[in-house]
Amino acid sequence: MIEAFREAHGQPRARAFCSSCDREPEVFACEHEPSRRKKVPTVVAGMAHKKLQNMGWVVSGGKLRCPTCEAKRKAVSMAHASQTKAAPAAQLNEPTRAQKRQIMDLLGEVYDVDAGRYLGGDTDDTVASVLDMMPGWVAQLREEFFGADGGNDDMDAALRDIRKVVEDITELLSSGRTLVELGTKKLEQAQALESQVAKIKVAVGPRGLKKAGVQA
Ligand SMILES: [Zn+2]
Repeated sequence: MIEAFREAHGQPRARAFCSSCDREPEVFACEHEPSRRKKVPTVVAGMAHKKLQNMGWVVSGGKLRCPTCEAKRKAVSMAHASQTKAAPAAQLNEPTRAQKRQIMDLLGEVYDVDAGRYLGGDTDDTVASVLDMMPGWVAQLREEFFGADGGNDDMDAALRDIRKVVEDITELLSSGRTLVELGTKKLEQAQALESQVAKIKVAVGPRGLKKAGVQA
């Protein structure tokens, strides 16, 4: 379970409770979802999951496992695996019902159906790696029940940034072109004036200029 709360200074925080033990909750900085509909604040699930994973937590099927419990689970499952034979290859190509449920549970938390993409930085791959399953299984269930787009908020933001930079460059280039055009025109004007002056000099001649009180 992850609770959203605010520090005395107002900073958004998350408090994560291990589903398997009674240890102190993990407290960390985490954005909250904009509270349009919900009265109780909720954390941005994708961000909270990523931060917890970085701290060694495992987010699996809507449950959280602290690093200690995860280490215990791994030790137990490794001992178990060494006792049982490997599953036949055919069984590995399809998720079991329980695995499908786990994938669906997690997708429900990290996929924004309204926006049609993953929240935060999650992808089929991150979901698959959290659950320790095949990314293809996640993609299949995600497409069937959630949305066709496997992109996410972070990718969208990056694309927006790139588009903005391209716009800026286009603008710079076009203002550069205007400057060059302006400069060329001025240069032509200057050359035209120069040749005009030369013609006047020739037409008048040194004597005429002296008469008019102009030094040649
Ligand atoms: Zn624990």
